[in-house]
Amino acid sequence: MLNTKDTKEHKDKSASIRVLPRPIVILLGLAIMFGMARPVSGQAGGEVVEARAEHRFGDEVQFFARIQSPIPIQNAFVTFRTTDGPAQTQPMSVNADGTAGYRYDARLNLLPPFARIVYWFDVTLSDGTRFTSGQFDFIYSDNRFAWQTLADSALRVHWYEGDAAFGSAVLDAARRGRESARALVPLNAAGTVDVYVYATPADLQSALELGGQVWVQGHASPALGVVMLSVKPGPEQSLALESQAPHELTHVLLYQSLGPNYNRLPVWLTEGMATNAELIPNPDLETTLAAAVDSNSLLPLSELCAAFPPDTGRAFLAYAESKSFVRFLLDNYGTTGLSALISAYADGMDCEQGARKALNYSLSDLEVRWRESTLGENRSGVVATNLFPYILVLGLVLLVPVWGAVNRLIERRRNARRQ
Ligand SMILES: [Zn+2]
Repeated sequence: MLNTKDTKEHKDKSASIRVLPRPIVILLGLAIMFGMARPVSGQAGGEVVEARAEHRFGDEVQFFARIQSPIPIQNAFVTFRTTDGPAQTQPMSVNADGTAGYRYDARLNLLPPFARIVYWFDVTLSDGTRFTSGQFDFIYSDNRFAWQTLADSALRVHWYEGDAAFGSAVLDAARRGRESARALVPLNAAGTVDVYVYATPADLQSALELGGQVWVQGHASPALGVVMLSVKPGPEQSLALESQAPHELTHVLLYQSLGPNYNRLPVWLTEGMATNAELIPNPDLETTLAAAVDSNSLLPLSELCAAFPPDTGRAFLAYAESKSFVRFLLDNYGTTGLSALISAYADGMDCEQGARKALNYSLSDLEVRWRESTLGENRSGVVATNLFPYILVLGLVLLVPVWGAVNRLIERRRNARRQ
């Protein structure tokens, strides 16, 4: 009996393992793998009992560790990286009491604002044994300013100049910006977005080290889920908020719905969508576009796939063209067409072929149609002029039989009149 029962229980256990859903089995497998790969701390004679990182934005990061070990410490290293960046390892100064420190000069080696920095410690003891701590992280926030925060379930807004009403206005604009982006294409964005509002473009630029790009008012770090705006509290605030917030949020929401494949989208598409999401359009874009049409100096869309031109004037024209072209696509193919186009590019198709797959026209064909229908150019006319010699020859070739037919018709009518 006992044997039978044992066997039955054993069978039941193996059955319950067999019926586990596949994802759980994979997760269990991964957990075992990581469990094995994870550095062991607290064994081999020592352990990191305290770890912390303190930073002054744009200045320095101080890493601290307290190491407990009965055996003297020979050396300690800190390794750190942004979530998607390369890791760097630096030697720490170790004190007799087991504390260790390393100062990173963030003035010379810039870290992205609001990036999550992951770090850990490797320690070697004088008897040669080595151990690695667990991983720790912190947000490299721009702590030059005292940020106030207001949040809902999907958005957190932060500001340092202006009162609570200003914060509410920012949250409100961010919400409407999110809706405006989603009205272009349905975006399945999972995750929270942090919106940081700087009071001046100079403050924002000092955070980003943008140098001479004076026309940049907002910035998005899509992979970090971070939007940075420059809006001064006051009578002009809603104009600035309603143009910047939707634009930058579009970049982040696109990333959150596509993941790293976002980076495969042509720049004219992401910027065109972001610019179309702006609730108060910049009238200078229209003027710039019209002037470029008049002077026949439009930039070919194929040159706006990988990046926008570095110089300010041409970059501004690139925004104007991208906005107009994406609007043309929306008017002709709707949200469904634009979604198909985004998917084709996210799947890795190039600038020309993605358009052909999603919309049955290559990018250059679509460009000709856009320039004719939206910008009023007569590109087909240009094509016809180039084809004129061929059309002439074709006409002459056709003329001979036509002439014969007309002749016969005249002859028949004459005969009919005579009858
Ligand atoms: Zn943009």
